Amino acid sequence: MRKDVLIIGGGATGAGIVRDLALRGVECALLEMGDYCHGASGGNHGLLHSGGRYVVTDPPSAMECAKENAILRRTAPFCIEGTDGLFVSLPGDDPSFADPFLKGCKGSGVPAEELTAKEALSAEPGLSAEALRCIAVQDGSIDPFALVQANVDSAREAGAMVRNHCRVTDMVLEGGMVVRVKALDRRSGEILTIVPEIVINAAGAWAPQVAAMAGCEVAMGLDQGSMLVVDGRLCGHVVNRLRPPSDGDITVPNHTATVLGTTSRPAASPEDVAPSRNDMELLLRETSAMLPALRHCRVVRAYGGVRPLPGRGGRGASRTFSLITDERAGNLLSVVGGKLTTYRLMAERVSDQVCNALGARAGCRTRTEPLGPPADEAGGSVALARLRRKYGFKATTVSLADQRMLCSCEQVLRAEAQMVLAGPDALTLSDVMRRTRAGMGYCQGLDCALSLQELMMEAGGTEPLASLTEFLEERERGQALASGDQLRQEVLRRHVLQGVYGLGERE
Ligand SMILES: Cc1cc2nc3c(=O)[nH]c(=O)nc-3n(C[C@H](O)[C@H](O)[C@H](O)COP(=O)(O)OP(=O)(O)OC[C@H]3O[C@@H](n4cnc5c(N)ncnc54)[C@H](O)[C@@H]3O)c2cc1C
Repeated sequence: MRKDVLIIGGGATGAGIVRDLALRGVECALLEMGDYCHGASGGNHGLLHSGGRYVVTDPPSAMECAKENAILRRTAPFCIEGTDGLFVSLPGDDPSFADPFLKGCKGSGVPAEELTAKEALSAEPGLSAEALRCIAVQDGSIDPFALVQANVDSAREAGAMVRNHCRVTDMVLEGGMVVRVKALDRRSGEILTIVPEIVINAAGAWAPQVAAMAGCEVAMGLDQGSMLVVDGRLCGHVVNRLRPPSDGDITVPNHTATVLGTTSRPAASPEDVAPSRNDMELLLRETSAMLPALRHCRVVRAYGGVRPLPGRGGRGASRTFSLITDERAGNLLSVVGGKLTTYRLMAERVSDQVCNALGARAGCRTRTEPLGPPADEAGGSVALARLRRKYGFKATTVSLADQRMLCSCEQVLRAEAQMVLAGPDALTLSDVMRRTRAGMGYCQGLDCALSLQELMMEAGGTEPLASLTEFLEERERGQALASGDQLRQEVLRRHVLQGVYGLGERE
């Protein structure tokens, strides 16, 4: 199969690139080995950065975040909550940090305003009464799964071929150019051969492995970060600690939950994502200093991701991005680093370079063109309002004829799962969960897993038992860290899975 451009990796960066190029009329394909967001794009904090976090330590990244934040709020409102954010300092924090922070905001174009403690408490009543200085910024919360899927949908509409569960396994070189790329499609077992003019390596933390297939090197630091999900929204704003970036600094309200994060340690491989008990304790301790009610909340999940950082990685590494070429494979371009918040900008820069090389003149459209048409007018039923919040303009494609509930924690209708199962992307139960949120809530799929499996079997889904086991194991990640009351709940959960559902002993 001939393509002008093959993109390897279906995280935010790859999905952004395939959309940008397809909108410019370039014939392109994207292959992703897992589901979209299998890597860091699904294992992150979900913070739409205002740039505030980087104004003192990494101003170029702060500027990129500030500009992209404004663009995404305009073009992708269906997957963003414009919560705004607060940076707060507590007793013990360096009181002299707030002034360079405010100066940095001004210098980097990050809108910021200092509030009095009284104003801050009235804006965010759960805030610690000990908060000393408080600066309001334009942080937000973003749903990466919805964002990436919308890029994929838009790219397909513009003519791109996009496939998940399709792993690139080999590259064949001739005369210092990649001439063929082979991939294994998990659905059909088929080996695909693509003959591309240009190959984009957007494989995140796997970028060095993908580059190695072409005999090239990409220097990258792998950095693991952990997050906790607590049930319920414990804050209305994103709440950040006003100090140099360190562990346990940020709480992000997201859908029905609050996400606490993050940590930073060197990762041994892109799969080295597991959080430790220490991470969990640290995150609860540090974030509850800002929002004391967090001490008494139920942690429903712990998860992690690996940051693909240029150079040696670590907290000190810049969060900007680089485009890397290598004369050993003249038509391979690797893109590394960056943030979820800046994925669109990364895609624009890559696409500009690709279009130059191809001699294509079309300019970037993603800065202004909405990511999918706006949702229909407000109004209609409660169910429709909920669907609009989750799917934007696609809400009306969910049939409301059958309003039976599939997942009561996240209020997901069976019809939503049926819509996803009728599409081209869902191979496993986890794929349905990422698109509908079924199984992401309080009980982490305990209640809906079997019904979901039944729907998959009705839709002719493959390997239903393997898919169910994968789903439950994935949902269990982090539960093993539970202690006290949470451990009691975990024992009950295991009893239901093993004793009632008969799913047997699992590690
Ligand atoms: C702990 C943590 C917290 C973060 N928090 C935030 C935040 O709050 N806000 C923010 O803006 N950014 C955040 N980030 C950064 C952000 O998540 C990443 O910069 C971004 O998601 C990277 O996207 P990507 O597409 O480049 O990489 P990835 O999402 O990792 O995508 C790479 C993809 O390539 C695929 N792939 C690899 N090899 C192959 C192959 N051989 N064939 C086919 N496919 C392949 C992988 O399966 C993967 O899906 C965070 C990151 C981490 C780890």
